[in-house]
Amino acid sequence: MTATVAGRSLESWITDFPLITQLQEMNELAWFNPEIAPTAAEGIADVGLTTSDIKEASARLKRFAPYIQKVFPEAAATAGIIESPLQAVPSLRQQIEARNNVRMPGALWAKLDSMLPISGSIKARGGIYEVLKHAEEIALKHELITIESDYSVLDSDEAREVFGKYRVAVGSTGNLGLSIGIMSAKLGFRASVHMSSDARQWKKDKLRSHGVEVVEYDSDYSIAVAAGRRQAEGDDSIYFVDDENSTSLFLGYAVSGHRLAGQLQAMEIEVSEENPLIVHLPCGVGGGPGGVAFGLKIEFGDAVRCVFAEPTHCPSMLLGVMTGAHDAVAVQDFGIDNVTAADGLACGRPSGFVGKAMGRLIDGYYTVSDDEMYRLVAQAYDTEGLRMEPSSATSLLGPAHVAAATDYRERIGLDDEKLARATHIAWITGGNMVPEDEMNSYIETGHNLLG
Ligand SMILES: *Cc1c(COP(=O)(O)O)cnc(C)c1O
Repeated sequence: MTATVAGRSLESWITDFPLITQLQEMNELAWFNPEIAPTAAEGIADVGLTTSDIKEASARLKRFAPYIQKVFPEAAATAGIIESPLQAVPSLRQQIEARNNVRMPGALWAKLDSMLPISGSIKARGGIYEVLKHAEEIALKHELITIESDYSVLDSDEAREVFGKYRVAVGSTGNLGLSIGIMSAKLGFRASVHMSSDARQWKKDKLRSHGVEVVEYDSDYSIAVAAGRRQAEGDDSIYFVDDENSTSLFLGYAVSGHRLAGQLQAMEIEVSEENPLIVHLPCGVGGGPGGVAFGLKIEFGDAVRCVFAEPTHCPSMLLGVMTGAHDAVAVQDFGIDNVTAADGLACGRPSGFVGKAMGRLIDGYYTVSDDEMYRLVAQAYDTEGLRMEPSSATSLLGPAHVAAATDYRERIGLDDEKLARATHIAWITGGNMVPEDEMNSYIETGHNLLG
């Protein structure tokens, strides 16, 4: 632990933000931000991106749909649009209430990004979008397509030869690397994925089987990202996907807002200030949940409330937003170790852009212990047959934290009647590509902890 953090003594941080002491103890807790702003009045203005940016991203994904459908048979069912199901999970809700002795009023749904085609995680939204955006620029420049073309022509030796002159690089704890690597390799790009020590072996193996260069680091995610950034510096043929700062990634995630609105409408689920939608999102560096939350706020305004879930060992976004120091502080600066079973969330330093852009639009944050993640993984499997990685399971506790947050609820007028009418969505961010052995061992660990 360093004596000073971002130019201030640790003591002075703790004096101003006493919650830091509890974060350092790595116990589960929740913090609801007293400084949230109304979406329409000020909130959205912080972001610097607009509805038309999301529409542009959505249109680009539609242009690529014929190509995606052609090269990834698993995306054929949705005609090349990479989207996930929304499933009611009433038994799981009941079981969590009973076991944890908590109240979770409202209906609970699971948004199963764990089942997204291509990479089985939320990264199939932002990661793939950013690669496609880059590919489109190159393809237009080399006149492989026009904006009106059927993009399935990009599945050709001619296109692959062009893309093969370029490299895509990224630093990742695993899932972003999978998305970027698989998509890049499919198009014909050369690809390098710089993997932090948290990355699971099977993710590295899978990428190598796609011909992706995997560079392994004995250190944290930030170091892997910095290495990727360095590789790309001064070389125009290398495109670096910057998970810590990318607005393209962010917009790829944000497209989900409008699509979710369509799913809710098809299921006749009303969303309004009187019938709130409360969305719980696992947070790592922040781009995924931040982008989704942005899309939701654009779609639903203050009728949607977003809450982020983080590991007790890595509450980086909470720390960054609460202190206002954002990416100037990392959890390790405060002696919090960033060692967690939630490999998808193990980012000790939050995004420099998401906290500033979305800080006033995210209502709250809570932390979940590794043991609790495993218990939730086991319960989700037992009650609903869902298979998810530990990172994803963190979102399932959100409804209990909201129900218990008396001050917050009073502040926003979320009384008992309103909360009982709420639709909660736990965003299940990853799981389907986890090898069966590994998934079984997650579930078994959870069963052992449940006793
Ligand atoms: C990456 C990831 C997240 C969080 O996304 P960030 O952009 O890092 O905040 C959540 N769950 C899983 C499974 C992930 O892979």
